[in-house]
Amino acid sequence: MKKTLITNATIFDGTGSSPFIGNLLVEGNRIKSVTATDQPSMDADEVIDGSDKFLMPGMTEGHAHLSFDAFTCTEDLIAPSPEEHVFLTARVAKKLLDQGFTSAYGASEAKLRLGIAVRNEVDAGRLPGPRIRAGSVEITVTGGLGDESRLHNKRVAEAPAAVVDGPEEMRKFVRICCREGCDNIKLDASGDPFYPHAPAMATPMSLEEMQMAVNTAHSFGKMVNTHARSIESVRNSVLAGVDMIYHAEYTDEETLDLLEAAKDRIFIAPTMGLFHTMFHDGEAHGLPRAVVEAMGIAELMEASVKTHTELRKRGIRHLIGGDYGFTWNMQGTQARDLQYFVDYYGYTPAEALLCATRNGGLAMRKEGDLGTLEAGMLADMLLVDGDPLQDLGILTDKKRLSMIMKDGELY
Ligand SMILES: [Zn+2]
Repeated sequence: MKKTLITNATIFDGTGSSPFIGNLLVEGNRIKSVTATDQPSMDADEVIDGSDKFLMPGMTEGHAHLSFDAFTCTEDLIAPSPEEHVFLTARVAKKLLDQGFTSAYGASEAKLRLGIAVRNEVDAGRLPGPRIRAGSVEITVTGGLGDESRLHNKRVAEAPAAVVDGPEEMRKFVRICCREGCDNIKLDASGDPFYPHAPAMATPMSLEEMQMAVNTAHSFGKMVNTHARSIESVRNSVLAGVDMIYHAEYTDEETLDLLEAAKDRIFIAPTMGLFHTMFHDGEAHGLPRAVVEAMGIAELMEASVKTHTELRKRGIRHLIGGDYGFTWNMQGTQARDLQYFVDYYGYTPAEALLCATRNGGLAMRKEGDLGTLEAGMLADMLLVDGDPLQDLGILTDKKRLSMIMKDGELY
């Protein structure tokens, strides 16, 4: 097995301990040893000088929409043919790896097999990309986020989501997703400011439908994500046993307690990136101020700060990944979330990095062997020119990534 040695680097190992100077040896696709010493040993096929560089685990994009790129409306998700759309998806996967994201935890995709097809090609070594847990299409209910049909207008028949009603239809569709190869099933539990008929505070999907989805997905060994903004949808997500909650702006004391009690089995990605850019840069990208105001984005941001600052204090496993893929929230800029975690939720830079690395690895693999730099772990890591703990913005600049390693291979 090939041995690669990185010497004399400042090692941020992702365990929570302080960075130290040391050597890290990779054998095959796993980390063989991590040693705190400034004495390089030379027993390796390839030696990389890490002097004055910062060695850290590869990052995980926790809310990946690999098939969304610069989209402005749901028509952009529906209109491309699957043939063209899979190329777009592959390009986004490469872009994430270019930016130091060695893992992509799939939220949802525009068509059922886009994430699956690209994941399979990446795993086979035929396309460049991160490790991928493939997300399903959005699953919603009649009247929910993603149901855009209208009784009077049959031309609007295609939804960007699968519309199911009742536990039996849910069971069947989740089974189809599992059969087709999805790793993560995505439920639209609450409404959304993009849907006037189902706003963020609405909860169109029932607890029974969610429980059926979770039981079915878990019976196949798959994970379940929910889009949950309303209090009821967050509470139902915990009660139904979902694995990943997205957004979670609105909570009450009871829901916070439920989340805290479930903190060892649940992950949460708060997705501030989208709202931050809509609010501050929307106009520059063709999103009128009046629309941002009508959608209540400022109020959602305020609720997000309140909830996720509290969840940070309660030790919830947050992931970064702020719903990237819109034209005003571009793919490849995901590392901006690190600074938002500091500015909005009160994380220290080191803690924000743990969300992107350790927590991401835990969400990606039940085996628990990804996301830190320790002996025995999978060898996904970045050698950074500069100190991200002094300036997290460094990680948004791919020119500062002097080495990207995934599965023991230099990219
Ligand atoms: Zn999303």
